[in-house]
Amino acid sequence: MPSDHGSNRRPSHLFYQSRLRRPAVDRAEGIYLWDQDGRRQIDGSSGAMVVNIGHSNPYVLDAMRRQMEKVTFAYRLHFENDAAEDLAARTAALMPPGLERIFFVSGGSEAVESCLKLARQYALATGQGGRWKVISRFPSYHGSTLGALAVTGYDALTQPFAPMMREMPKIAAPTAYLDRDGLSMPERGRRYADLLEAEILAQGPDSVLAFIMEPIGGASTGALVAPDSYYPRIREICDRYKIILIYDEVMSGAGRTGKFLGAEHWPASPDLVALSKGFASGYCPLGAMAAPDWMVQPVLDAGGFQHGHTYAGNPLACAAGLAVLDEIAAHDLVGNAARMGAILKSRLEGLKARFPFIGDVRGKGLLLAAEFVADVETMAPLPKELNAYQRVVDLAYERGLIIYSRRTRGGVEGDHFLVCPPMIITEAQIDEIMEILVATLDALAAELHLPVNG
Ligand code: PMP
Repeated sequence: MPSDHGSNRRPSHLFYQSRLRRPAVDRAEGIYLWDQDGRRQIDGSSGAMVVNIGHSNPYVLDAMRRQMEKVTFAYRLHFENDAAEDLAARTAALMPPGLERIFFVSGGSEAVESCLKLARQYALATGQGGRWKVISRFPSYHGSTLGALAVTGYDALTQPFAPMMREMPKIAAPTAYLDRDGLSMPERGRRYADLLEAEILAQGPDSVLAFIMEPIGGASTGALVAPDSYYPRIREICDRYKIILIYDEVMSGAGRTGKFLGAEHWPASPDLVALSKGFASGYCPLGAMAAPDWMVQPVLDAGGFQHGHTYAGNPLACAAGLAVLDEIAAHDLVGNAARMGAILKSRLEGLKARFPFIGDVRGKGLLLAAEFVADVETMAPLPKELNAYQRVVDLAYERGLIIYSRRTRGGVEGDHFLVCPPMIITEAQIDEIMEILVATLDALAAELHLPVNG
């Protein structure tokens, strides 16, 4: 008989990694979810930064219903399908110039795997078979499959599988906000970017295939944004050594940061983009890789891309994705993410005055995080035993707000939480979030004996 760990709900055959069972969800609408006891939660993290256009959008549901009544699955080797063709064309138009070839998958890890494998097959097709190393950053998160895990910088997730995969070289992610070195932010940005050049030289430039990074970090770093000088310098270094630059925009893409891609915040563009999460906003499993013709064509000419998943280009998922992009455009949700993000960020910044244990607030658009510290001057983290990152999530949940948190940063540990509501959020709903957040942080401070001002 399956055990149920003390809950009075029915026994479950399901298992996940999560440490506690939450109530079963009943329904959702806009930025809200209700459990089966009728308790409402504000979806302050859009699930796992997924439901960018909010829940139960009638236009998307209608488009999906219409597609379902026609055909839900047709295998891509047997039929072309209009939903996939239309979504590919729409996606290409939203990518940086040149990234006009689109490959569909069903999630973020699959999108990352696709980028790694296309890069490798491009190298093989162009006589550069000695290139196979993919440099990435620490900390980082690129997915749970073994290839994506090999470029992920997160020891608890990667180490159990180390013997089963070929771990790739890592450089430090630019946690410049922690540095107390007297350098200016532009200098720090360049110094962190130069770690890539040093690693390329250490590995041997002709063995390095690609560099992958989240342009704006997700949960692993707490919405990490590098100094502006970092991005063009990374592009320059990749060009100098003919290394393919991959942006993992699984979390930062589809408008969340106030631009359709996080990449658009800086003049430098990547060679490959991985998309998922907000791309179909949780209405269906969907992801994509955007690639340039100069990389795709030699691979096709050399015999085809040796990679693909059964559900790729599924008509229902593509119809959902297309309707999501329609909604984003029709209601200027990217613009709303930028406008509401600026308001929410300044409200989070404002929390520092009352809660001196908030050491940093960062992110762009509605991909925002706050970091807890024991001392703002040194940015020393809170002691691990306080479990602050878990307690803040639980205390918020008790008060009707879902947020997301982790304990990782740079080479040391530290607690942060993310506030990433759907891109349809209004200013009045930001007030609702802030009211619960202040009550949550008051409760956290009381429980963990952290200082509070007036
Ligand atoms: N890359 C990034 C940046 C992510 O945030 C995630 C998911 N959190 C993934 C890849 C993996 O996506 P999925 O869980 O859909 O496989």
